[in-house]
Amino acid sequence: MSTLTHHDVLVVGGGNAGISLAAKLQRLGCRDVALVEPKAVHHYRPLLSYVAGGEATLDDLRRPQADVVPDGCTWYQDRVVAVDADRSTVRLASGRELTYGDLAVCPGSEVDWDAIPGSREAVGTASASTSYTPELAVETWAMLSALTAGRAVFVISDQHVPCAPVGLKPLFMAADHWRRTGVLGAIEIELVVEADRLVREERADGELRTAAESYGVALRTGTAVEAIDPSARTLRLRTPDGAAETRYDALYLAPPHRAPAWVAASGLDADGSDGFVAVDPSTLQHVAHPRVWGLGDVATVATSPSGGALRKQVPVVAENIAARRRGRPMRRYDGYSVAPVTTSRRRLLLAEFDREGRPEPTLSVPDLVRPRLSTWAFDRYLEPLVYWHQLLKGKVS
Ligand SMILES: Cc1cc2nc3c(=O)[nH]c(=O)nc-3n(C[C@H](O)[C@H](O)[C@H](O)COP(=O)(O)OP(=O)(O)OC[C@H]3O[C@@H](n4cnc5c(N)ncnc54)[C@H](O)[C@@H]3O)c2cc1C
Repeated sequence: MSTLTHHDVLVVGGGNAGISLAAKLQRLGCRDVALVEPKAVHHYRPLLSYVAGGEATLDDLRRPQADVVPDGCTWYQDRVVAVDADRSTVRLASGRELTYGDLAVCPGSEVDWDAIPGSREAVGTASASTSYTPELAVETWAMLSALTAGRAVFVISDQHVPCAPVGLKPLFMAADHWRRTGVLGAIEIELVVEADRLVREERADGELRTAAESYGVALRTGTAVEAIDPSARTLRLRTPDGAAETRYDALYLAPPHRAPAWVAASGLDADGSDGFVAVDPSTLQHVAHPRVWGLGDVATVATSPSGGALRKQVPVVAENIAARRRGRPMRRYDGYSVAPVTTSRRRLLLAEFDREGRPEPTLSVPDLVRPRLSTWAFDRYLEPLVYWHQLLKGKVS
């Protein structure tokens, strides 16, 4: 039997975007915020790269979801299965229906194993892995640290991968480990990147290419993986010069991602949005439904999706909900995003850029695009604290 409950603002997804937004809305005075999130455990996902590089454990990045849901926010531990924006109604897996004044849609994206035939089977073997799921992040370091000779191939897809350049972190941490343990000379490293750059910001791209060269990495850009044969341990590639094949002993994937299927089934997508929630990239308001908002990895924000980007998106959505209600001008999001990438086990560069890939540094000094020990220490140890104590508490402006 369906029961109908109304909330002033309903947030779908209690990840980085949803929790930060719920907290920010409360700070702005919204008294009835509800959240739908099925999982009992919250992950600080950026540390998954360090798990894959042998520098963190899953315990370092997990907290009970109950600890991060803001006090006073109603939490439905359930899953959204459909949205009917014409009736302002959301249906949950339990059959319950909720109505809303405004709806913020932020269920993130999911790995699309179907996009590369053979990829699901490949990561089921000990020779292939990814940092993009918690269990496989652990397996990634087991695989990379066990390799002492042979071919290591790293693949970075350009299909909606959250914070894609961080897929390079396991490569650089492993290469540094191989150098320190004296086996780097026996390992051929190949990096296959679907985009034309390793990161959108030009100077950071140059730094990363230099770092890759220093480990003898053979780099292919503009190259997509079409299929994987896990039994032969080969990849079929589509390169700018045509089809090619490459062999691996260890394979790391930053795999293609897709939006949850119910987004398109509910009509929240649009032509060209590839199944993602179609929002105005500046205001984050849905293109057809003014009381629906999209942010985070599921939204068409026309920039590289990242947790860092949410620092700017969350206040925009929270303030624009109020602005719409009062008929005031909306605040705009300029497409700011970040890419923190390790170049060794103790150095990291931070690229910050706008929608066009132009530099948008938060600090003018020091130059964070140069790899530094201090920036690495911030990313590995301080940023998680900022996440738990500031971002998830809605302390963003
Ligand atoms: C390995 C890895 C490393 C990363 N490193 C960095 C980094 O160093 N720096 C950086 O800035 N960003 C990084 N990111 C990106 C960052 O984690 C994401 O951009 C951010 O988590 C996006 O937040 P989100 O809330 O949109 O999605 P998520 O954090 O994925 O949260 C979505 C939530 O929605 C829930 N959900 C899903 N479906 C439903 C449903 N049907 N109903 C209700 N709830 C649902 C999920 O359970 C989940 O809790 C990394 C990501 C990964 C995977």
